[in-house]
Amino acid sequence: LQVIADVEPAVAAAIGQELHDQRESLKLIASENYASPATLLAMGNWFSDKYAEGTPGRRFYAACQNVDTVERLAAEHARALFGAEYAYPQPHSGIDANLVAFWAILAHRVETPALAEAGVKNVDALGEADWANLRRALGDQRMLGMSLDAGGHLTHGFRPNISGKMFHQASYGTDPETGLIDYAALRKQANEFKPLILVAGYSAYPRRVDFAAMREIADEVGATLMVDMAHFAGLVAGKVFTGDEDPVPHAHVVTTTTHKSLRGPRGGMVLATEEYAPSIDRGCPLVLGGPLGNVMAAKAVAFAEARRPDFADYAQRIVDNSRALAESLLRRGVVLVTGGTDNHLVLADVSGVGLTGRQAEAALLESGLVTNRNAVPGDPNGPWYTSGIRLGTPALTTRGLGTAELAEVGDLMADVLEATTAVGDSKVKFTIADGVAERVRARAAEIVGAHP
Ligand code: PLP
Repeated sequence: LQVIADVEPAVAAAIGQELHDQRESLKLIASENYASPATLLAMGNWFSDKYAEGTPGRRFYAACQNVDTVERLAAEHARALFGAEYAYPQPHSGIDANLVAFWAILAHRVETPALAEAGVKNVDALGEADWANLRRALGDQRMLGMSLDAGGHLTHGFRPNISGKMFHQASYGTDPETGLIDYAALRKQANEFKPLILVAGYSAYPRRVDFAAMREIADEVGATLMVDMAHFAGLVAGKVFTGDEDPVPHAHVVTTTTHKSLRGPRGGMVLATEEYAPSIDRGCPLVLGGPLGNVMAAKAVAFAEARRPDFADYAQRIVDNSRALAESLLRRGVVLVTGGTDNHLVLADVSGVGLTGRQAEAALLESGLVTNRNAVPGDPNGPWYTSGIRLGTPALTTRGLGTAELAEVGDLMADVLEATTAVGDSKVKFTIADGVAERVRARAAEIVGAHP
């Protein structure tokens, strides 16, 4: 930090403060974690100075031999970790991984056959009429993904997102009674809509998904099954999700972030069957800027860590902790979407206690509990104010908290929610009964203090 402080002390101070704040907080944000020192250190090095557009052994720049080494290692570890035929560790984030995947699916399913039909090898050689036809065909494709309020991600076809503009999109939701994916309804919808891409995966769905059923539906309608496992990649790596719950043997293309339950550096990755590999390999420079060699080095380190036996134990503890948290909240009368969890996250509906997600998030933060607000299915408050709070256990599990502590955290949360009252009909303002925030904050500090 001193080296940084000599140049810009305010940045050094902010970095130090971030370490302090993350250490002191009870981090329940489902998409966050604590990467290991080895992973963090692998990110700060001279690869940052190197350009390496292309793929290992086939770069548009000279002297890429060391980037080749770390990229190959990251891909090798990823293939072994997930049992994938092919891995592309270049995407800079989860959204980038999804864009690479969307583009690769379009290239493989629409562009390549069109070029073959026109008898040319690349789009540059197409005549104007064929080029216009190809552009029309690319823009005419359909995507079916989980809706945002049911737990899907923005990139799964949410209209304001680029995915909702690249494709004619439709969304599937969850059963209003159970909150669960209704595979029969999805099959019917897919048969009517006939998507090119069926997207599975989620940011806020607290249950497991039957990817074998998803693949059956995709096959029935001729769709490519793409699974975005950004949130639960750690549970796949740690073999908590196996068989029909493991997306890799079932999907054509799997995308992920590397920094959530997988506990690597911030970044993304695409896994796929061999058939899609040539199109995905063209992700950089057709979709992505030059790969970040330093981050790929850190991905290789994190994947090597995830291949160790203790990672499976970590993944199982994430789920045990999530259940303990859910059970504790349920005991206190907090309403949970789907009535519980069987993954790393819990989605609480706080509308029953007269709060918006935004009020609950702020009241919990004031009490030392870091969560984030999230829409619930059919949310009347929309994606900004929301009616829900999303909680996740990957980060606290990394710190070593167990089921007893998570049960207590559930009680502390319930204490805060019970003590919080909305001011009038404001969706933002609230009050907390005297002393509650202070008491909970002090106890939260003791809990994290015992797991530094
Ligand atoms: N996909 C899913 C399912 C996510 O939950 C997220 C992030 O929250 C992303 C993609 C995007 O990841 P990133 O923020 O790394 O672009």
